[in-house]
Amino acid sequence: MRRFFRIHVAFVYEMNEIWAPQAKVLIDLVPSKPALIDDPDQIARDLGAFEADGFTPDTKQGVFPARIPMLTDSFAPVFLSYLGTDPVKNTDFTLFVVHAINAGRGHTFGITDSSHKFALVSDDADARQWAHELGHFLGAGDSGVEGELMVSGEEGEKISVQDAVKVFNRRHT
Ligand SMILES: [Zn+2]
Repeated sequence: MRRFFRIHVAFVYEMNEIWAPQAKVLIDLVPSKPALIDDPDQIARDLGAFEADGFTPDTKQGVFPARIPMLTDSFAPVFLSYLGTDPVKNTDFTLFVVHAINAGRGHTFGITDSSHKFALVSDDADARQWAHELGHFLGAGDSGVEGELMVSGEEGEKISVQDAVKVFNRRHT
């Protein structure tokens, strides 16, 4: 656990190296305990999965598959329910590091939920992918311009001046 925390501190440092100079966005890491979401009863309730009687949670469905579905039969409600218990105070955005994600196409390193409250990142994602998901949280879509941070699945780290001003800092204008 301590080893992972050190990696996450380093990742946030790297995210700031991308975000701070280019867009004046500074990320504060709020330390938290690992999110233990493993109660089949609660997960089934969160998913609205009940037995035929309509009120007994279908615990068979309350188990995480190896790759967490985020499009079809999305597990997003489970994460939103967890965040609803307010496990970490004063956070704007939560990145859950998970083993693997199923978003309907090849390998998915990260996905930002449409609630804009959290993203999932796979355990083999790097800091650039974390920084990319932060861009989605702040309102950017995927870019098609080579070299940019918002190009999906590539390695670019550039944030365009246009995005820095019009998207990422719009809350301050
Ligand atoms: Zn993306």
